Amino acid sequence: MADRQQALARNLQAVRQRIAHAAESASRDPASVTLVVVTKTWPASDIRLLAQLGVQHVGENRDQEAAPKAAQLTDLALEWHFIGQLQTNKVRSVATYATVVESVDRTRLVRTLDQAALSQNRRLRCLIQVQLDSTPGRGGATPTKVPELAQQLADSQLLEVAGVMGVAPLGEDPLVAFGRLADVASELRRDHPEAVIISAGMSGDLEAAIACGATHVRVGSAVLGHRPPVG
Ligand SMILES: *Cc1c(COP(=O)(O)O)cnc(C)c1O
Repeated sequence: MADRQQALARNLQAVRQRIAHAAESASRDPASVTLVVVTKTWPASDIRLLAQLGVQHVGENRDQEAAPKAAQLTDLALEWHFIGQLQTNKVRSVATYATVVESVDRTRLVRTLDQAALSQNRRLRCLIQVQLDSTPGRGGATPTKVPELAQQLADSQLLEVAGVMGVAPLGEDPLVAFGRLADVASELRRDHPEAVIISAGMSGDLEAAIACGATHVRVGSAVLGHRPPVG
């Protein structure tokens, strides 16, 4: 466990340095970038070590895995970001622990999320996941659908339209993809000035994301190591 803590501390420091350098290169305050550590496939014990190292935001992409981990860690003041494709039958569970749902991409999901938030009496910050490639089916709303989803969130009772999330497509320059996301984000802010979050960038492309204005980066393997194969 001591070895694991040392490895996580070292990796975390390296990632924080990358974030700081990228922010400085973009003439941005490093404090304007929030690190969300993506802990999918790693045990709750790792999350506890990360919390001891100052991590406040964690990201998970499967409710079956995230719900039991969150239940074991209720003593920690963590913000849980749900970052995976969200099936409507998982929404009630996700609404019990998530503070941010980053993968809102369809109107039916907004309705279900609002109902779940109401039954828990919890506010949920929502990001609209924007599809940045032309291959449908990998999650995310097309940029043309964003205004409608944003209005639906704004009209809901307990959901907040907090910004956008995107994943750069493989094989494309991430600066170009994240540039498109930044354009979608600035258009969104014209109607919803409170929607200031841009969640973009992972272990391999966080610098490009920060150059394009990301306020949140979602980093997994650079902190935790290469994920064990999902069983
Ligand atoms: C797994 C995942 C990440 C983290 O990816 P790494 O390459 O391990 O940093 C970020 N965002 C989403 C949506 C993910 O599913």
